[in-house]
Amino acid sequence: MTAPRTVTVQTLDHGAVELRCPDWCTGEHEQDVHREDISHLGPDQPLTLPTRGGPVTNLVTALELRPYATDLFLRTVFVNVEIGADWYPTGLAGLEAMADVLAEQAEQLREQARRLALLLQEGRR
Ligand SMILES: [Zn+2]
Repeated sequence: MTAPRTVTVQTLDHGAVELRCPDWCTGEHEQDVHREDISHLGPDQPLTLPTRGGPVTNLVTALELRPYATDLFLRTVFVNVEIGADWYPTGLAGLEAMADVLAEQAEQLREQARRLALLLQEGRR
C-alpha cells in the first residue's frame, strides 16, 4: 500500500492549490493555470494500426479528472479520447458506443479485404 500522493499546483487565480492524486494519475501537473483547468491525467494509451510504413496511431485515450472544472461532467473520472488533433471527454456510455462502432468498422474492413482477395484471385486467371 502506497501513501496517497499530494501535489501542489500554483494557480493564476487561487494561489497554491494542494491536490491528492488518484492512483492512476501520472503526478505531472501543469503550473500557473486557472484552478478550473487543473487536471489529473493518466498515461496516454495509443491505439495503433499496422501499415506498410509501420504502426500509425488512430486514437489515444487517457484517464482524466478535473476537480474544479465548471463543466460538472469533468469533475468525475472520464476518458479523454484524442481523434486527430482534438480531444473528446468521454464517459462510459460514450466509450461503449465508440467500441461498438469500431467493431462495425472492423467488419467493414474485413469485407473490403474479402473484395480485394476476390479481385486478386480473378487477376491470377
Ligand atoms: Zn494528479
